[in-house]
Amino acid sequence: MAERKPVMVTEEQLREQRGYMAQVLAMPHRPRSYHVVTYGCQMNAHDSEKLAGMLSDMGMAEASTREQADFVIFNTCCVRDNAERRALGNVTWLKEVRKQNPNLMIAVCGCMIQQPGMAEKIIKQYRFVDLAFGTSNLYKLPELLLRALQSDRAVVEVEDEDTIAEALPVKRLRQDAAYITIMYGCDNFCSYCIVPYVRGRERSREMSAILAEAQALRDAGVKEIMLLGQNVNSYGRGLTGEPTFAQLLRELDGLDIPRIRFMTSHPKDLSDELIEVMGTSRHILPQFHLPVQSGNDEILRRMNRRYDRARYLERVRRLREAVPGIGLTTDIIVGFPGETEEQFQDTMALVDEVGYDSAFTFIYSPRTGTKAASMAEQVPEAVASDRIQRLIALQDRRQREAMARFVGMEEEVLVEGLSRRSDKAVSGKGRHGVSITCPGTADDVGQLLRVRVTEIKNNTLMAERTDGKDGEHHA
Ligand code: SF4
Repeated sequence: MAERKPVMVTEEQLREQRGYMAQVLAMPHRPRSYHVVTYGCQMNAHDSEKLAGMLSDMGMAEASTREQADFVIFNTCCVRDNAERRALGNVTWLKEVRKQNPNLMIAVCGCMIQQPGMAEKIIKQYRFVDLAFGTSNLYKLPELLLRALQSDRAVVEVEDEDTIAEALPVKRLRQDAAYITIMYGCDNFCSYCIVPYVRGRERSREMSAILAEAQALRDAGVKEIMLLGQNVNSYGRGLTGEPTFAQLLRELDGLDIPRIRFMTSHPKDLSDELIEVMGTSRHILPQFHLPVQSGNDEILRRMNRRYDRARYLERVRRLREAVPGIGLTTDIIVGFPGETEEQFQDTMALVDEVGYDSAFTFIYSPRTGTKAASMAEQVPEAVASDRIQRLIALQDRRQREAMARFVGMEEEVLVEGLSRRSDKAVSGKGRHGVSITCPGTADDVGQLLRVRVTEIKNNTLMAERTDGKDGEHHA
């Protein structure tokens, strides 16, 4: 693949976009409300926060359902076939809504659009779509919306550029927690993955820009930041001085934001320096998402993962030595082309050995354009489905066993909302990444609470408060 340089979106280009925003605002028939439908990962969720930020700045209010909105954006994912099919199914369904609201505008953006020829295909097949744009063009939403409002024809813009746009407006989903994208794209070309083709070459944001954003979030009272990138462990490549991810974490740790998390890490880039920072920092949470994908060396080789089982297990051991009790989670693909029962058993044995706090398990889904899609010996669906059932059963058991270590432990919960089971209880995530439910009320949402874990119920830790409040005192 040819060498490509990241393209910084200039101040001038962003100023132009603000000019388009003002023009949209001045249009009498502009949409008054919006709804963003998000598919896929946290990167997409954060992109949706930026879309919402720009739409708010164009005078639109957020509608709680798509039926109530004048402008609906589908921010799509193409990592798995079912996410793509669901997105297209929902776009089709909106055609009916449009019959009731002829002014409804529909946009499709995100990874799916970035696939070669996809934007044109969508516009041709789904004639009621007004706007289609790729991940690199997200910052151009004001301009594209203005063009769509001024024309009867669909507006399509997909650039084959690896852009970095700083300082876009963001409308955050939560006030207490925030995402910060530290890098974009991926250079790893795992043989099953479409991300490098749709999100472009790996490029990191300047450390100074990340620190400034984190500082502003801290000053706004944010209690937890989540650093995002397809492979955060390789942060800094290509920047002047090549700062490492460990160095970035050390700097962020010094800002005194109560909680710092990150995602996703590639095992091949998990350095000793990063493990050391994990063990000595004050605010980096004791949790690590380390996708293993398979426990078999031959499958890992054909996945182009560039580590083997022994190296992976060695990294897990080092992490556990540096951060005792660390919360470990993973991703696993079952039924990769050619996977034999014996090779699958290596994955089972690894899952048994590690004892993850949770695992995201997937049946391999071929993605056009990737190397694995053209590999011979695709595993029959029935075989893959039988394997994943066995894997889930094992993981459920190991998860329960792993979670037992928390019983009796003091923890801290960042409350996300009322518990689904009781209005006198609240739920959130503990420092190790596991869900915790404890007594509390709506007043506690967004707060950090001290608790002691008392028992495990349905993969959730149940806890009592150690701050003397049981939720009924301040109802
Ligand atoms: S590291 Fe591999 S799986 Fe992750 S985004 Fe890059 S290519 Fe895809």
